[in-house]
Amino acid sequence: MSRPLIGVLALQGDVREHLAALRDQDAEAVPVRRPEELAAVDGLVLPGGESTTIAKLARRFGLLDPLRAAVRDGLPVYGSCAGMILLADRLLDAPPDQETIGGLDVTVRRNAFGRQADSFESEMDVEGLGGGSLHAVFIRAPWVEEAGDGVAVLGRVVGGEADGRIVAVRQGNLVATSFHPELTGDRRVHALFVEIVRRHLAARAGAGAGNEED
Ligand code: GLN
Repeated sequence: MSRPLIGVLALQGDVREHLAALRDQDAEAVPVRRPEELAAVDGLVLPGGESTTIAKLARRFGLLDPLRAAVRDGLPVYGSCAGMILLADRLLDAPPDQETIGGLDVTVRRNAFGRQADSFESEMDVEGLGGGSLHAVFIRAPWVEEAGDGVAVLGRVVGGEADGRIVAVRQGNLVATSFHPELTGDRRVHALFVEIVRRHLAARAGAGAGNEED
């Protein structure tokens, strides 16, 4: 099967690291800044960074509504940290006018771990990833305060004050993590996402073939 084309929203944040992680998984990875670029990709990564800034730039670049439409159409999207915030339907501890792309039926609390724990690293199990626990890097990270019925919880914090907090979720083709797998050498989250993109492409190709026969 040919390599899927996966975009990384490149308005602000750690774009390069995601491009590299995707290329390691044999995907073609390109920065996305314009609606035409968004329209061309088979999947999209929303990087870590500053979610208010990314949302404002997306609005200014005319990308916010195309991003919402793409999610509604079933485009696979993976959001890490600020990207998780951007995918959330509901936010806590956010400016009242902060916009999101939405699509993920979760309530996400920004900067949830408090100032003392601005940045920390932790070992955790993530469902669907073989190969044992994952070393997770959190930087002014959000968590999922509440997840809707259709949302699968893939990972929770183990130990400390935040014990049990949800930090990795999936709903259909949408995946979000509070942590930054792009900053470690562990490529399993990106591998999972690339697999979701491949399956989506295969399913679409199958549906297309079916339609032609009608
Ligand atoms: N605290 C940031 C925000 O609210 C997210 C941090 C990150 O992406 N590392 O946008």
